[in-house]
Amino acid sequence: MKYYSTRNKSLNCDFRSIFERGLAPDGGLFIPKGPIRFSEEEISELGKLSYLDLAAEIIYSFCKENFSKDDVSKIVKKSYSKFNHNEVVEIKKFEDLALVELYHGPTLAFKDIAMQVIGNLYSELKIAENKVINIIVATSGDTGSAAISALNDKKNINVFVLHPHNKISPTQRKIMTTIGSKNIYNIALKGNFDDCQKAVKEMFSDNDFREKINMSGVNSINWARIICQIVYYFYCYFKLSKKTNFAVPTGNFGDIYAGYVAKKMGLPMGKLIVATNENDILARVINSGKYEPSKVKSTLTPSMDIQVSSNFERLLFDIANYSDARVNNLMNELKIKGSFSLEKSELDEIKKFFVAEAVNDNDTIRIIRDFFNNFGFIIDPHTATAVGASYKIQNNLPTAILATAHPYKFAETVKIAINKDVSIPQQILSLPNKKEKFDVLENNLSDLKKYVIDKNL
Ligand SMILES: *Cc1c(COP(=O)(O)O)cnc(C)c1O
Repeated sequence: MKYYSTRNKSLNCDFRSIFERGLAPDGGLFIPKGPIRFSEEEISELGKLSYLDLAAEIIYSFCKENFSKDDVSKIVKKSYSKFNHNEVVEIKKFEDLALVELYHGPTLAFKDIAMQVIGNLYSELKIAENKVINIIVATSGDTGSAAISALNDKKNINVFVLHPHNKISPTQRKIMTTIGSKNIYNIALKGNFDDCQKAVKEMFSDNDFREKINMSGVNSINWARIICQIVYYFYCYFKLSKKTNFAVPTGNFGDIYAGYVAKKMGLPMGKLIVATNENDILARVINSGKYEPSKVKSTLTPSMDIQVSSNFERLLFDIANYSDARVNNLMNELKIKGSFSLEKSELDEIKKFFVAEAVNDNDTIRIIRDFFNNFGFIIDPHTATAVGASYKIQNNLPTAILATAHPYKFAETVKIAINKDVSIPQQILSLPNKKEKFDVLENNLSDLKKYVIDKNL
């Protein structure tokens, strides 16, 4: 399996190099050269596997050049040993909805599922064997802690986590700023998530800087994140033993894009339901064909406070019949005019797979309350947006809701909704007593670069 970029099809990279780089040199996203497709027989064989074995099969299919299946099995086993649940994810049924709890990892959000594997991939691929590498990652709240947990104390690896100052929940911040050791640097950037993501992309695009510090990235633009997330779509299909819709709280379009890839790989599936908050760029583009970022608004679902949805470019590449020229045109238009519009045929293709709905803060609160009153079960605000969006379609198929975070991470919002405290999960029992460590920096690229370089001296 070789990889090229959404903006340049003449590239021919192996898994190790796209893993190490994260973002393609042309600013595009790496993508496999030929689609992987399982036959019906292969899929029914996969259905007999445990979560860990299923994960090994799926991940292996994307990196055969660099690993044996045995290697991948070992990586997977090690990666999920810190999870609170043997099968990694837990599915609970509430009438027509199946809630897929993806938050049983060490930092209580679905980001752990891919990030723990990524941490071990750095070691197995010997990326930092003979040099110090610097991983710079932007977070809307959950990616940062997941990356820190996965990369803590790894030899020759520094991790710089940029979060938007005062724009994440107190528990998100506390987990992130207390669990790191000497190789971890937390930066609170005076800006929003898009500013953090933009800074990371600009550092990647600065060749001198990138090479000088051996920069690497683990944001959801990294293909390895996507392949780990494909696994639970398969797992749900097998556990529920029927075709279902999936409703997914969406920000950077990574998690739901993994569902799209699963469908392309042959998994029977209903619709993919994109749930957004009031930062509804994805709902707007999927409903109208116009992609137009506006100003980021702070909401009760901070992990989705995003307007520049990076992985959407991977979908564009696909629906444009793998045309790197078309993707380049759209991205140039975005840069010059601040928006682009899709052709009707392109939008129709997107609508075959996706529906989308924005859910505002008031409705999010109401959904948490209703869910609790109906089922006695507490969901987090992000998960609530997916529950809300799931009502958008009635195609007689059941719907699986991806529950992306533990409600404890957003206990303040839950308290508003149901006037109850969420009890502290076992993974973070010692959290309240720990001291936080982070630096506040201006949203200024040269300051950021200087900070990174200084820490390497
Ligand atoms: C990251 C995150 C999302 C959004 O996921 P994307 O892959 O960026 O679309 C949704 N919910 C929670 C809790 C998250 O941490």
